[in-house]
Amino acid sequence: MKTPAAHAPMHQFAVDNGELLIAGLPLSRVAARVGRTPFYAYDRQLLDRRVAELRQALPPAISLHYAMKANPMPALVGHMVRLVDGIDVASAGELQVALDAGADPAEISFAGPGKRDAELHQAVAAGILINIESFREVPVLAAASQALGLPARVAVRVNPDFELKSSGMKMGGGPKQFGVDTEHVPALLAEIATAGLAFEGFHLYAGSQNLRAEAIIEAQRQSFELARRLAEHAPAPVKFLNLGGGFGIPYFPGESHLDLAPIGVHLTTLVAEAAQHLPSARIVIELGRYLVGEAGLYVCRVIDRKLSRGHPYLVTDGGLHHHLAASGNFGQIIRKNYPVAIANRMGANDRETASVVGPLCTPLDLLGERMLLPVAEIGDLVVVFQSGAYGLTASPEKFLGHPEAVEILV
Ligand SMILES: *Cc1c(COP(=O)(O)O)cnc(C)c1O
Repeated sequence: MKTPAAHAPMHQFAVDNGELLIAGLPLSRVAARVGRTPFYAYDRQLLDRRVAELRQALPPAISLHYAMKANPMPALVGHMVRLVDGIDVASAGELQVALDAGADPAEISFAGPGKRDAELHQAVAAGILINIESFREVPVLAAASQALGLPARVAVRVNPDFELKSSGMKMGGGPKQFGVDTEHVPALLAEIATAGLAFEGFHLYAGSQNLRAEAIIEAQRQSFELARRLAEHAPAPVKFLNLGGGFGIPYFPGESHLDLAPIGVHLTTLVAEAAQHLPSARIVIELGRYLVGEAGLYVCRVIDRKLSRGHPYLVTDGGLHHHLAASGNFGQIIRKNYPVAIANRMGANDRETASVVGPLCTPLDLLGERMLLPVAEIGDLVVVFQSGAYGLTASPEKFLGHPEAVEILV
């Protein structure tokens, strides 16, 4: 009989005396410090370590951007600003957080399919790079440039004619609301030139949550070739070539960590080719979950333990209202369990198959379905790993009116 697939080990958090630690502190003590559950805790040292690993694996000429929609907590963004080379924002609201955090406007870029006129105006005033995703944005940016006496800095987000294979979420290729289709880009570049906007580059984003290095390499190769071809129509030299990201992290049983080494080797080749064919271009990789996802825990407490027809349910004070993704309702087609543990019973031998649920009156409020876990009691701390990205701000906090979750950076 085949043994069921297991989660990748969550070694990033140490265990001492049967208890999970975050930043060297027992989780129960951190919980006492927070004063209540549920909460999200993000580990600074793990953020540092992840960026250091990337710097080690990728060529130094690559600029590393943080796509802050993955986790816009202001303290965390402030930490990331000091670690990475730039911040990618997806709204004027995120732009405000990035600027407050001290990000250099020269290294902020703004993408999104529905930028409102006011947001475009704010972006021009801030002096950030705007990834144009529609012909409509050109006259709006021209008017803002005129009014502010400041030419808008723009790149073109291209909807490529290929997809990122085996991606968790496809965001390019075929008909898409993102970017401008490859075949219309030359006409858009002509309009940008006529409008007097400051053209600075291209942005290609094929997809997200990919664990296969070969698929990422292929998308980067195709994106680079496409940008080279489109650069022939550009009104100015390409300064920024954003090749997207899509680096995934293991969430579900059977998944394992992405192998960065071949990606680094391939990017070294691309950097050399860029030096020859696009000599003014800096290559940018934009990552969200890969930078922050593994550094975060969601922590809640068991408030009841029920047996229903023999099956144990651990009812916690946390659930889908704080962590929609872990409940399986954030775009997943088939529900699978995130890695879950009982933080104060790590490695306990007395185990059972139990389900971890939240307090909401819906069967969708599930944090772990039929998982083999240490036998837990009321008062125990349940943790959901891989929770540093698409957690609180990607969840319907108001649903059912339970208390909000706290977020801390440790
Ligand atoms: C969401 C998004 C990202 C980040 O995606 P991750 O999967 O978190 O790395 C990067 N770039 C763009 C354009 C995005 O929309």
